[in-house]
Amino acid sequence: MERLDAFMTRANAAYYAARDPFADFTTSPEISQVFGELLGLWAAVMWRAMGAPAGAMLAEAGPGRGTLMADALRAIGRAAPDFRPSVHLVESSARLRAVQAAKLSAALPGAAAGGVLWHDSVADLPPGPLVFIANEFFDALPIRQRRGAGEAFVAGGARVWVPDSNELVRETCEPALAIVRLLAARGAAALIVDYGPEASAPGDSLQAIHDGRPADPFARPGDADLTAHVDFAALACAARKAGAAVHGPVPQGKFLAALGLFQRTGILARTQAPKKAGAMMDGARRLAEPDRMGRLFKAMAICHPDLPLPPGFET
Ligand code: SAH
Repeated sequence: MERLDAFMTRANAAYYAARDPFADFTTSPEISQVFGELLGLWAAVMWRAMGAPAGAMLAEAGPGRGTLMADALRAIGRAAPDFRPSVHLVESSARLRAVQAAKLSAALPGAAAGGVLWHDSVADLPPGPLVFIANEFFDALPIRQRRGAGEAFVAGGARVWVPDSNELVRETCEPALAIVRLLAARGAAALIVDYGPEASAPGDSLQAIHDGRPADPFARPGDADLTAHVDFAALACAARKAGAAVHGPVPQGKFLAALGLFQRTGILARTQAPKKAGAMMDGARRLAEPDRMGRLFKAMAICHPDLPLPPGFET
């Protein structure tokens, strides 16, 4: 017998070590280059709001193929060239680290690519001014599930605890809470994009995806990607208790539209052949439309309380 979080840790480590996750699912940065560009510009704005400190770090947790970071750094190089952060990637998979290194050295020849460092966990990031971003990272962190013990009945002159079979599952993700506490305590500017409900809701959200289809999470550990809804309310509460200001969560569609998703995509599409231009516009709509990725996915920022309202969170 193995507790669920230990099982999930083992299964996902095997999955990310051996398989190409992007054969099973498609993430926002793989749908549109504008996603990473906008997150890069968000990071540059936050760095400036911090007072443009020298020696700042841009960290990404769970960088996948490195696409988001490559797009972010390209946009930063063009729009905010004075922001020259050291780049830190938190990645547990050696296979994906190699994919990320190849992507970033191809996208950013020279100094920028040489400045990339990898870490096993967020706790390993060196001290200093930090802008942190993560897309579809927190949903991969291991959860625990509990169900209420039950209700008291009386039988034969004694109390008997009867398990309540209707009791809903409650989920907790301790590693995610630990990471947001750490980001809050560091006074970082952090942006978390992931999927989950606005308010904490009981229920079993554990899901396995194999070949783009739902699979049995327990049958073949390492064969499927295991994720769970991110409990934004729980993360926000932990971050506030640790002294941070929390902004959002707001629906991804609203967040990206406020940052200029459609304007930027329109500019890119203008120079493309009609078929490519149409695909680019559809990519943007896929990220933003409520019945696609625009509503289930959320953006939430955890920032030092002295920092101004981050871009994309204006009401
Ligand atoms: N952010 C990327 C990839 C999402 S897939 C994108 O949007 O395309 C999840 C990523 O998190 C993968 O890179 C995976 O290897 C990494 N990951 C999952 N669990 C991790 C953990 N516990 N520690 C570090 N990285 C982890």
